[in-house]
Amino acid sequence: MDFSLSDEERAIRDTARQFITREVVPLEQEALRRERAHRPGLDHSELRELQLKAKKFGFWGLATPEEYGGMNLPAVMQSLIWTEVGRTFVQFRFGGEADNILFYANDEQKREYLVPTIEGDRISCFAITEPGAGSDAANIKLSARRDGDDWVLNGEKTFITNGNDADFVIVVAVTDREKGVRGGGTTAFLVDREMGWRSEFIQTMGEGGPASLIFEDVRVPSRNILGEIGQGFELGMQWIGKGRYLIPSTALGIAERALGMAIEYANTRETFGRRIGENQAIQWMIADSEVELEAARWLILRAAWTVDQGADPRHASSMAKLYGAAMVNNVVDRVMQVHGGMGYTRELPIERWYRQVRLMRIYEGTDEMQRLIISRDLLRGYTKIGGHLS
Ligand SMILES: Cc1cc2nc3c(=O)[nH]c(=O)nc-3n(C[C@H](O)[C@H](O)[C@H](O)COP(=O)(O)OP(=O)(O)OC[C@H]3O[C@@H](n4cnc5c(N)ncnc54)[C@H](O)[C@@H]3O)c2cc1C
Repeated sequence: MDFSLSDEERAIRDTARQFITREVVPLEQEALRRERAHRPGLDHSELRELQLKAKKFGFWGLATPEEYGGMNLPAVMQSLIWTEVGRTFVQFRFGGEADNILFYANDEQKREYLVPTIEGDRISCFAITEPGAGSDAANIKLSARRDGDDWVLNGEKTFITNGNDADFVIVVAVTDREKGVRGGGTTAFLVDREMGWRSEFIQTMGEGGPASLIFEDVRVPSRNILGEIGQGFELGMQWIGKGRYLIPSTALGIAERALGMAIEYANTRETFGRRIGENQAIQWMIADSEVELEAARWLILRAAWTVDQGADPRHASSMAKLYGAAMVNNVVDRVMQVHGGMGYTRELPIERWYRQVRLMRIYEGTDEMQRLIISRDLLRGYTKIGGHLS
């Protein structure tokens, strides 16, 4: 069994690290200052500029097929790069990406939505969650009623990332109540903001914030159906599935950086005439963090590897998401403890991570939903204990 990275993986990972360290990390202090003034740490044009700079380094469209100018990287490579991105709290991501399900678009939709999203000229958001349907996504109610060659959408979506900035939404609506959500009764639509939906900002404990999207008789032409009629829920689950190994990949980067800060602090801060790192209480926090971090790393890479094998990644991804999210919350909490009062201040980014990582246990499937999936797979015999090695 070989746990080492290939030369190519190491080279790409190191170049990503170099880019983040040289180009993004230096923006952190300014980002913190702006966020404290309730402004975005990085505005859209600055993000774009950085993404174009990264393109020159070769980073463009990590998951995007080559025919659209992307790198089409294997999932393991993508995971390694997202870990590097996680090392900075500046809200940076590499450009040239689009929602995975936008590739189901037909040729006309590809020109109108997919390509401009990849190019960064349009901003998308994805909406399935509603005020009455989160974990229980199959309970969505937002309706689309056929009217001639159009569909008329009514209802509300909530907690939608990018919902304030997006100029179009991929929204999952109920098109056939009789069939039900799991029986082919839902459809995904591409809906421009100009067609009439509006967004309302939701304040959260994190920076930025999602939005509620309100649809009141929003008229959408049939040509804006994404994929097939009846395929909406399936597309929604595909969209959510992708994040389940990428979210913990960024968690890994956060934990690595934060733990590094704790080690440095433990080696310099003195109390009672000696460095705090000489106390077992501090050493144990560092040791526990390293063990959890490594355990999460292998769960995450295994989930990504499962994707690359073309096997069903759901079980492995749920374990990676559940454990990775818990790990980063534990590590950031300990890192704050090691820093004492300084950890609680806004001089350092630790309190910011503390607020940011809490979300990882909630969105794209809560801890409880991941446990439900993992246990259901075992109880119903879909997966064997020990997975592919059993
Ligand atoms: C910042 C942010 C960004 C988001 N971005 C998006 C987005 O872009 N698009 C989108 O569609 N959605 C998005 N979401 C929604 C997110 O996916 C949901 O919040 C999440 O799925 C949980 O749903 P809920 O909030 O309705 O909680 P609920 O489903 O009401 O759950 C409440 C609690 O009960 C638990 N629970 C529920 N059912 C069970 C059960 N059967 N057994 C045990 N425990 C249970 C849950 O785990 C949770 O702890 C976002 C949310 C946030 C906060």
